Amino acid sequence: MSFEVDLLVHNASILTMDDGRPSAHTLAVHHGRVFALDEAGLHGRAELDAQGATVVPGFGDAHNHMAWFGQSLSSVDLTGLDQLGELYDRVAERARTLPPDAFVMGAGYDDTAIGGHPHRRALDKAAGGRPVVLRHRSGHVTTVNSQVLERLGVLDGSAEVPTGGVVVRDEHGDPTGTLEEQAQNLVNPLLVPYPTGELAEAIGRASAVYAAEGLTHVTECGIGGGWVGRTPVELAAYQRARDAGTLTVRVQLMPVADALHPLSAHPEDNLNRGLDLGLCTGFGDDRLRIGPMKIFMDGSLVARTAAMLAPFCDRHSHGYLQDDPELLRTQILDAHASGWRVAAHAIGDAAIDLALDVFAEAQRRHPRPDARPRIEHAAVTNPAQISRMAELGVTPVPQARFLYELGDTMAAAIGPDRAAGLYRHAAFLRAGLRVPGSSDRPVAAGAPLLGIQSMVQRLTSGGAVLGPDERVDVLTALRAYTVDAAWIAGEEHSRGTLTPGKLADFVLLGDDITTIHADQIGSTEVIATFLGGTCVHGPREWYWSL
Ligand SMILES: [Zn+2]
Repeated sequence: MSFEVDLLVHNASILTMDDGRPSAHTLAVHHGRVFALDEAGLHGRAELDAQGATVVPGFGDAHNHMAWFGQSLSSVDLTGLDQLGELYDRVAERARTLPPDAFVMGAGYDDTAIGGHPHRRALDKAAGGRPVVLRHRSGHVTTVNSQVLERLGVLDGSAEVPTGGVVVRDEHGDPTGTLEEQAQNLVNPLLVPYPTGELAEAIGRASAVYAAEGLTHVTECGIGGGWVGRTPVELAAYQRARDAGTLTVRVQLMPVADALHPLSAHPEDNLNRGLDLGLCTGFGDDRLRIGPMKIFMDGSLVARTAAMLAPFCDRHSHGYLQDDPELLRTQILDAHASGWRVAAHAIGDAAIDLALDVFAEAQRRHPRPDARPRIEHAAVTNPAQISRMAELGVTPVPQARFLYELGDTMAAAIGPDRAAGLYRHAAFLRAGLRVPGSSDRPVAAGAPLLGIQSMVQRLTSGGAVLGPDERVDVLTALRAYTVDAAWIAGEEHSRGTLTPGKLADFVLLGDDITTIHADQIGSTEVIATFLGGTCVHGPREWYWSL
C-alpha cells in the first residue's frame, strides 16, 4: 500500500543544509511540512518533476525594511543616477502628474554618484510648488525642499532639531534642505502615520518581489516609530496584507525602542517596559511574529554619522551616537529585563563598544539564557570586539552586499586599513559566531543570491576585493541565508533546513550555485519558491491549492 502525500517533488538535486542528511533527490510534502526525503512507496496528490533543478531551503533575510521597500517601489526611483540634473528632471516629471499640493516622494539617490545632495531651491523649481521629500539610499539622510522646511519651522528657526541629528546649512547658515539622521524625524509628522491600507499594499508589492527571489522569511528591522517606522499601528498593516493573501513570505517584526513604553504590571513580573498587554519577542505564529526590540546606537558610514573610535579619514569627525548613551543603555537594560531580545544597530566601533558594554551589563543584572542579542551591521570591528561578541553570545548581522554597492565610498570614508575588516564574515565564524544573511533592503539590493555572491567575492562595484581574508565559500554563504537566518529569528526548530517535520519552504534554482563560477551566483534563475508546500512564485501550472 502506498501513502499519498500532498506534494512529491522528484528528479531534484536537493541541498538540505541538514548535516545529518546533506543531499536527496525526492522531497515529500504533507500538511505544509517536509514529510520525507527519498522515501519509497509515496505518491503525491500533486507531483512535480524538477527536471534536475537544485532545491535549497527557502532563503531568510535577517534584516530588511519591507514596508519602506514596498513604498519605494511606488515613489520616484532615484537609484543609479549619475547627475543631479537627472534627479531634478525626474522630480519634475513626477510632479507634473500630481495635484498641486501633493507630496513628491523619491528614494534611492546617492550624493557621491551625482556630485552632492540636491538643493532645496532647485527642488522648489522642479516640483512647481509641491512639497518634496527625497530619501538618500542609506536611509540616514533625507533632502526636502523649501515648502517642507517652511512647514517644519526650519526656515523661521522655530524647529527644534532632535539630538543625534543635523540640519545641514551652507557657509552662510542657510539650510540646504538636507537633514541627517534624527533630523529626518522632523519630516515625520507631515507624512507619518501612513494609512495602513497604503502600507498593506506596499507590503504586498514587496512580497511579490521577495517570492520571485526565493525569500520565504524576512525580518523587518524597525516598526512602530523612529525614522524607519511608518505608523504606530504598523503591525496592523502586516496583518491586513496577510489577511488579504498578499503576504507570501513569513515575517518577523522588530518594534523600535521608541514604540516600547512603561507598563503597569505587578512588580514581581519585572515587566517595566514593553508593548500593551505584555506582547513581547516571540509572540505570533510562523507567518507573523514579534521579534526583538530594535534600537539605533549610531548612524551610517556613507553619511559619516557612524560613531567611530578613530575619526573618519576625510573629515575631522568621529561621527556620533543617536542619543544620550545613558538613555540608550536604560532602554536596552529595561527591554532585556522585560523579556525582550534586543537588536542594536551599531556600525562604528565606538557604537559597538557601547552595545557590548550594555549587553554584558544586561546579562549580569538579569541573566537570561538564550537571549540572543544581536548587533545590526557590525561594520567596523576590531579583534577584541570579536572575542567579546563570542564571549557574550552576541550575534553580528553584517550585510556583504554593501561591499559591492557602497564599499568604495565606505573605504574612502575610513581608509584602507579599516576597510579590510568591513562587514567581516570569516573572522566572525573563526571566533565561533554565526553570521545570518541579510540585506538591509532597500538600502542595498535584497536578492539573497546577490548577497551570497558578495559573501563569496567581497567585490566592490569598482572592482576591488575588500578584505579577501573575510571571504567564505558558497556553502557557508548559503548556510548564512538559510540555517543561520532561521537561528537568529529563533525558529531553527521549524525552518532553515529541509528536514522531515520542518516547514516545507524551499526554492528551485536553475543551477547548482555551489558548483558554478561565483560571478554567476547572483544571476542564477529562481525557477520557483514554495512556502509551506504552496507555490508562491513559479510556473502558473504549479500554483495548486494544496
Ligand atoms: Zn536597516
